[in-house]
Amino acid sequence: MKINYNFLVLKDSYLFSLIAKKVNEYKQQNPEKDVIRLGIGDVTLPLVPAVVEAMHKAVSEMGSADTFKGYGEEQGYGFLRQAVCDYYAKKGVKLDTSEVFISDGAKSDIGNILDIFDSANTVIIPDPVYPVYVDTNIMAGRKIKFINGNKENNFLPLPDGKTEGDIVYICSPNNPTGAVYIKEQLKIWVDWALERDAVILFDSAYEVFIKDESLPTSIFQIPGARNCAIEFCSLSKTAGFTGTRCGYTVIPHELVRDKVPLNKLWLRRQTTKFNGVPYIVQRGAEAVFTEAGMNQIKEQINYYLGNASIIADTLTDLGIWFTGGTNSPYIWLKCPNNMSSWEFFDFLLNNCSIVGTPGAGFGDNGEGYFRLTAFGNRKNVVEAMDRIKMMII
Ligand code: PLP
Repeated sequence: MKINYNFLVLKDSYLFSLIAKKVNEYKQQNPEKDVIRLGIGDVTLPLVPAVVEAMHKAVSEMGSADTFKGYGEEQGYGFLRQAVCDYYAKKGVKLDTSEVFISDGAKSDIGNILDIFDSANTVIIPDPVYPVYVDTNIMAGRKIKFINGNKENNFLPLPDGKTEGDIVYICSPNNPTGAVYIKEQLKIWVDWALERDAVILFDSAYEVFIKDESLPTSIFQIPGARNCAIEFCSLSKTAGFTGTRCGYTVIPHELVRDKVPLNKLWLRRQTTKFNGVPYIVQRGAEAVFTEAGMNQIKEQINYYLGNASIIADTLTDLGIWFTGGTNSPYIWLKCPNNMSSWEFFDFLLNNCSIVGTPGAGFGDNGEGYFRLTAFGNRKNVVEAMDRIKMMII
């Protein structure tokens, strides 16, 4: 018997535990201080009324013999897959319901999708990055090549003549950098993938934050993407589902490798290893896509984006370089005075009682950068920016 030794290669994730430790120590030493957290990657606003109402109704259905539901289709109820297709149609993307798979969130699907690929594939992952892409590939023993995000490319890396690999991860709007690819840039990635039969794993978890209509909210808005891309999305940030859990993955029928449709492999994978998302949750998710639901979540997204623009305006006034802040809930800034990520963390905590996330936790290229998020409440964001303005001049 041998364990999967790849797990021992994983780096321990010290980031959030070290942040918690430092904040606790600071609070103990400074009990009078009001600590503001601008590091959270979780939403703070509650489920919208349309969702709550739909879920209450679904609970009642589950409590009555006539309307009770047992196991559903593993890939999701038809009503929700249709709602997702209708949502994409408004973006100009035509999908068939059999191309949409409902899941308990993007994180599971992003990890599980690796089941359908040979472990000998080389994977290209941008640095800095959402750590799940890296760790799931390390667990599977896959070879990883990093592609550099940096100030020169505005943290939007593109392939050059030397970029070779079989699978590439793209996240736009990006976590942690908040950067968003324009259509022409995504077209470069799509052409790159088509030329070498590679596959793009496109993470659109933050698509709903895109307000600029010229920016792509789905990889399938790019010609050719149906032949080379899989898209993962989530209602976590879209509609406050981080604790409710629902997402979806889109695999077009044209995506065929070695004469095998990947949609078919994923269907087989899901029907074997997954038993679907609760009916009650899927009814709540369906409500997100109704007119009332859409209007209600739009208000929440605008609230978060309002926070983001307050942060972005402050950084602009202070002459601090950053990406994100518009079309994204993340702001990724260059630490002032050439401080390292952790030096700036300590500086903000000790001088302003503000907690953010050191960029170094998202990859080597994150060193010297810092992530702030817009998921806090308005009063705290305004107060935090006042404190920062007083300290950094
Ligand atoms: N993708 C990115 C880039 C994320 O930042 C997150 C969550 O923070 C996820 C996926 C996972 O979302 P979910 O809650 O749907 O699992």
